[in-house]
Amino acid sequence: MADRLLSSRVWAGQAAGRLWVAQERDRPSGPEMADYPRACSRCGVLTAEADFGADRSKKSRHKSHCRACERADYASRKDELQARRDAVREAARQARLKELEVGHREKVAATKREQEAGVRRQKKLLRELGVPDWSPEELAERDEFAQCA
Ligand SMILES: [Zn+2]
Repeated sequence: MADRLLSSRVWAGQAAGRLWVAQERDRPSGPEMADYPRACSRCGVLTAEADFGADRSKKSRHKSHCRACERADYASRKDELQARRDAVREAARQARLKELEVGHREKVAATKREQEAGVRRQKKLLRELGVPDWSPEELAERDEFAQCA
């Protein structure tokens, strides 16, 4: 039989209509199959099997507390969970901004280097052409002088 093929350390079971094989360490723990309806471990209300959530790690294949307790649990922690999600999102946003800032600084530095090289090229060209390289102040002074003359 199939059972004989399995070593004693392997445990076979059936869950959700599918046959599955698990190692001994995966054997579900907790109370044996309970009769339903059974009392919820939290609110104590006698509850039908369908109103217990699934938990494959338990022998009963169901959570020990009912879906209503689960919902209440979630509702009470909703704000905390939302805050945690918001914090994760905000951290990701800050990381992205930091990344963008680094990229932007690099771009600005590259543009500055390019502009400085352009100024050097222009000064070199003007020198080669013999055009005086006057500053704007010197040019203004010259124009004033020309008007007076
Ligand atoms: Zn309950």
